Amino acid sequence: MCGIVGIAGSSEVSDRLVEGLRRLEYRGYDSAGIAVVGGRNGLCRRRAAGKIANLDIELARHPVEGVTGIGHTRWATHGAPTRENAHPHKSGDVAVVHNGIIENFQQLRAELEVKGFKAETPVDSEAIAHLIASELRAGPDMDGAFARAVKRLRGAYALAVMNASEPGAIWVARSGCPLVIGLGEGETYIGSDTLALAGWTDKVIYLQEGDRAKVSAQGVVIIDKEARLAKRQVCVVSRAVAGFADKGGYRHFMAKEIHEQPDAVARTLSYYLDIATGQVRGEGSPDWALIDRLLGAACGTAFYAAAISKFWFEKLARLPMVSDLA
Ligand code: GLU
Repeated sequence: MCGIVGIAGSSEVSDRLVEGLRRLEYRGYDSAGIAVVGGRNGLCRRRAAGKIANLDIELARHPVEGVTGIGHTRWATHGAPTRENAHPHKSGDVAVVHNGIIENFQQLRAELEVKGFKAETPVDSEAIAHLIASELRAGPDMDGAFARAVKRLRGAYALAVMNASEPGAIWVARSGCPLVIGLGEGETYIGSDTLALAGWTDKVIYLQEGDRAKVSAQGVVIIDKEARLAKRQVCVVSRAVAGFADKGGYRHFMAKEIHEQPDAVARTLSYYLDIATGQVRGEGSPDWALIDRLLGAACGTAFYAAAISKFWFEKLARLPMVSDLA
């Protein structure tokens, strides 16, 4: 699952979309792309396999114009990590970026093929674009078409969609994947996490499970999973969050994280340990007397943490522990 960024604005967005995608690089990805609307050429899309630097080259060769746009860093689940499979996916005037997996995409694709929508890629996300385009055949009401399409999706998703016929808006929805909305001055932003928006705004709304929303430069209208108009809290996030999203002068994130270790260890220890008295702070801990064994289930770096903690729990606390790759 990778990154989404979007801007419904009033000035050119392509450079800023790429800047937002760079802030999401820490999540890892295999390809990237953007689509914009509201310029002289309607819906324009640029994509590249590999690093965001390749998307930069593509955009330098073939610049795009538009004041509303969406961007994506992809971590392929269906189909190879190629330029053709990169997001945004398109069907006519509709462009889609998607995080997650659409479990019923084969069934949707079969139905859509009967209606004349031919899949150009093996990617599950492409079906979303055709599904919305097919709903639009009933009439130009994009709000209704988006709502009907989202209802048909099974699986995990955070989505951002644009329609060249209504160029000032971005439609979003989430189920099982996070999505935040940032409120700016005469601009509204979307992101798969607040880091994507760092530097643009510190006012964010975290969409709740099953929410969908229509975002424009004027603000956002949110609909909950019961199809009711929803009010969501506006949170102010720390500007300090911005620091996590860049490489802090290091060549890459791994170097930055290695150098952060003394600070990270000190911060973690000072949370659990009162250095002055040498006491461990107990609040929030389970009642250890009731626990006779532990299971660590984790992936990646967290798995290494679980593997080393097995030795410590067994040696120091005499609690048997199994660590397994989740
Ligand atoms: N399932 C989609 C794909 O393979 C989205 C993957 C992602 O979250 O980046 O393109």
